[in-house]
Amino acid sequence: MAGRTKYVFVTGGVVSSIGKGITASSLGRLLKGRGHKVFMQKFDPYINVDAGTMSPRQHGEVFVTEDGGETDLDLGHYERFIDQNLTKLSNITAGKIYREVIEKERRGDYLGATIQVIPHITDAIKGEIATAAEESKADIVIVEIGGTVGDIESLPFLEAIRQWRHDMGRKNTLYIHNTLVPYLKAAKELKSKPTQHSIKELKSLGIQPDILVLRTERPLDEEVKDKISLFSDVESGAVIEARDESIIYEAVTSLKRQGLDQLVCRHFGFPEQEADLSDWIRFVESIKNAKSEVSIAVVGKYVGTKDAYISLTEALRHAGFHHGVKTRLMFISTDDLDEKNIERKLQGVQGIVIPGGFGSRGSYEKILACRHAREKNIPLLAICYGMHMLVAEYARNVLGLEGAASFEANPKTPHPVIHLSPEQKDETFMGGTLRLGRHEMALADGSLAREIYGARSIGERHRHRYRLNDNYADALVEAGLVISARSTKDDVAEIVELPGHPFYIGVQYHPEYASRPNRAHPLFAAFIAKAIEQKT
Ligand code: GLN
Repeated sequence: MAGRTKYVFVTGGVVSSIGKGITASSLGRLLKGRGHKVFMQKFDPYINVDAGTMSPRQHGEVFVTEDGGETDLDLGHYERFIDQNLTKLSNITAGKIYREVIEKERRGDYLGATIQVIPHITDAIKGEIATAAEESKADIVIVEIGGTVGDIESLPFLEAIRQWRHDMGRKNTLYIHNTLVPYLKAAKELKSKPTQHSIKELKSLGIQPDILVLRTERPLDEEVKDKISLFSDVESGAVIEARDESIIYEAVTSLKRQGLDQLVCRHFGFPEQEADLSDWIRFVESIKNAKSEVSIAVVGKYVGTKDAYISLTEALRHAGFHHGVKTRLMFISTDDLDEKNIERKLQGVQGIVIPGGFGSRGSYEKILACRHAREKNIPLLAICYGMHMLVAEYARNVLGLEGAASFEANPKTPHPVIHLSPEQKDETFMGGTLRLGRHEMALADGSLAREIYGARSIGERHRHRYRLNDNYADALVEAGLVISARSTKDDVAEIVELPGHPFYIGVQYHPEYASRPNRAHPLFAAFIAKAIEQKT
């Protein structure tokens, strides 16, 4: 166990979705800004072994790490805020822990023992924290506990982090509790009672918070802070306000202003020093100063769900910041699109994005959008399932292959231009069996992709089962589509593009996962550059 490692645990109270992930990520950024090595980990109390089998409708986007982990979307925040690639080790679910313990039991590792939540499950949880510290060699490991204190499912995780302080000592551990202080319009008052209850609950589990981060839509006055400080035994200087920010990246500077990193570093006995946030402040300023806008349509089927396309949304915004413009996003549901209204719905947009997706619903409408972009010379970036639809549209309307489709969208198609990857044929399990994570690819000389990346070979993150059917590759190429990248190991068509069009690119991978606020992804940057050139 890395003896010198310090541990910060972030728990949440009152309600979910209060921005625990942003608090944890902002702290990570601040500590990195002070020159510390940081690693981040999220524990999710659900029984799924990973987030890969969950619908974005329920849980938002599935974030994919380079090593192929299908993870909670908070990892996307972590990576974007601390500007660092994380791994599967950064997202541990209750399902994964239970599976590990049950497999050990079956193997006979515990022969004779009765397997229980305490100590076996809690030990397995602690084992993951220890591994994170050991493998990352970080100075500070920040662990966020998913869910809300008071949930039955969270209990083993909270017990494990309680024990962690006992095992590691007070000086090496710190608890931050994130809660909500609602404003009641009728009473014209901020209400601290839910926070009081949540802290009481936490204390009853043996955890005394060191810092409170209180989400609020109104400023917390000293009176409220003092009141919360008094009943929680948290010194009032450690009661911090997290206001709703219009730009999430401002959370970093706001928490710094209130001394969050200073509190943490003092607790751990780290030397006093300022976090260097000059880069961060510069890009937040550039976001604020952006005068003009670029309007981009995202045509997808989960558009009504908050966070279903969060990495994509952020990547498009980062690319806007990169060019000094605000990206105005129009989310267009495939449920509302048809031949008759497409012209009107996409009126004035300067670029169209077709995001990833699964199943057959929405495929026809995505094909319509690809056609619209192709025929009207509107920049198009089609990602994963979007690329599949781009290829199907081209096969249908340029190559003349009637009914051409992705096998996923129509298993009866006479022309499966996108088909199941051969190595997937015998796969019967759905969880964790897609083509996942980083794959290397070679870019074709003379292609737009090669020019955009400015490199011969690149690696990008993937999450798919279907791929371009190479039986149709020659015909597609003859008809004018360029396959501008193939993976080096398994020869998957990774990028297609259409010469002569301002920007018509489909990618088999997900570039959005690799975009950073201060470092826009080249593909998104190039796409937005072309979109800016379009007249509205
Ligand atoms: N459903 C498609 C596949 O499995 C695309 C997945 C995606 O868009 N991420 O290949």
